[in-house]
Amino acid sequence: MSDRYCVFGNPIGHSKSPAIHAAFAAQTGQDLRYEAILAPPEDFAGAVYRFVDAGGRGANVTVPFKEEAYRLSTQRTSRAELAGAVNTLLFDNARILGDNTDGAGLARDLTVNLVCPLAGKRILLLGAGGAARGALGPLLDGGPAALLIANRTPAKAQALAAQFAAYGPVSGGSYADLAKQRFDLVINATSASLAGELPSLPSGVFAAGSLAYDMMYGRGDTPFLAFARRQGAARLADGLGMLVEQAAEAFFVWRGIRPLSGPVMSLLRGA
Ligand code: NDP
Repeated sequence: MSDRYCVFGNPIGHSKSPAIHAAFAAQTGQDLRYEAILAPPEDFAGAVYRFVDAGGRGANVTVPFKEEAYRLSTQRTSRAELAGAVNTLLFDNARILGDNTDGAGLARDLTVNLVCPLAGKRILLLGAGGAARGALGPLLDGGPAALLIANRTPAKAQALAAQFAAYGPVSGGSYADLAKQRFDLVINATSASLAGELPSLPSGVFAAGSLAYDMMYGRGDTPFLAFARRQGAARLADGLGMLVEQAAEAFFVWRGIRPLSGPVMSLLRGA
């Protein structure tokens, strides 16, 4: 019987993870089945335990269960501890190992796929929620000259910066603090694009040659990418590469094999 994996979320109907992992399994010759499971908001733990009892070997976790998955894990990797959230579970006897591959997926998409080295760069990270927090460790690992977190609620950006101060040159503040500052890499980790909105960025934050990256993905420009285009950002990217790279990293955690992400990204972009 094929080994079973899944993604838990709510909603989960539009998840691309089953297609991504089916493509990885076909590419690497791994015998596994991967499905999407709609977990009830009040019983995420029950859904996980039922999947384990049915022989599940591992799972991805998406909105809104990443913090609950963190609490449910009996053991956690250091990157999950740092992120305060878990997007990858590995079931192994009685152990539930919690990992977080989101930040590594973002860093790999930026540095490998988009060939945007982080060393010496001025980075602006918009948002101070779960996605921003998961990205901070891997971004600071890249050795930027400065990393500024800007958030609609500035106190959350300042608190996050204080938590990561030991890992690199990070500070936090409001959008108004960005006036007259320029950045080489601007990452939108807010959920504003989901509502068709744009964080209240001042003009002129994109330095010459800059990359604008929206963690959100979909058809066409998000409001953030449309703004970046008008503002003259040199390059634009959405979060599809991050999605595929975090999945490749999870696949490696489960199977010990790293699939090629390029063909799967082409497949999804063509679909
Ligand atoms: P959270 O709910 O944890 O955080 C949301 C953040 O967005 C907060 O900082 C919030 O600010 C800010 N925000 C929300 N609406 C607005 C607005 N209209 N204007 C300005 N700021 C706003 O969400 P997540 O961190 O989990 O997710 C953020 C985004 O990242 C989502 O779009 C998600 O789809 C994407 N994502 C993509 C992944 C990928 O693989 N590509 C992986 C994970 C996430 P405040 O604190 O003031 O409320």
